Amino acid sequence: MTRALFIVDVQNDFTEEGALAVAGGDAVALRINSFLEGHAGDYEIIVASRDWHDADNDNGGHFSAEPDFIDTWPPHCVEHTYGAEYEEVFDTSYVTHHLKKGQGRPAYSLFEGIADDGTTAEELLESYGIIEIDVVGLATDYCVRASALDAIEHGRHVRVFTDLVEGVHPESSAKALAEIAHAGAELIESGV
Ligand SMILES: [Zn+2]
Repeated sequence: MTRALFIVDVQNDFTEEGALAVAGGDAVALRINSFLEGHAGDYEIIVASRDWHDADNDNGGHFSAEPDFIDTWPPHCVEHTYGAEYEEVFDTSYVTHHLKKGQGRPAYSLFEGIADDGTTAEELLESYGIIEIDVVGLATDYCVRASALDAIEHGRHVRVFTDLVEGVHPESSAKALAEIAHAGAELIESGV
């Protein structure tokens, strides 16, 4: 089976001390590094996404001065800032394709991302003949959820490594994993 790994939004703003810090985000970045050291060779392509928002507008109502932390958020991952860069400890040397999403609008799924040369996620999957997709990253209840559900909708067999994701809220993260499983994904542990 030709397999891709999706590494969702492992960025400074989504890990400790970031604008939208996920507790345990740094630890997930380190575990993903360990996983890549042992398993990068299992994947035809390794695709990493970054939330990458405009600096001069509210990105389609995604940013708010009074966020509800469900549909609106404090400013985060503003293009070309430290917060938008990959988490400092995350070793990106195994990443074969980099996608950016959220330019001027909310974008939770990696499938909304685009490479600097304009290639979309679906075009990548097609050109490499990807059948299976494993998903890791941040945050379980938002961008991991959306990316995994989209991958299923795009007809791929999906696995989520539950020890290589971390969520904003425990309750919504548990609900998201249940929803992903119900939609047909396998929830497994990486064992790193
Ligand atoms: Zn965002």
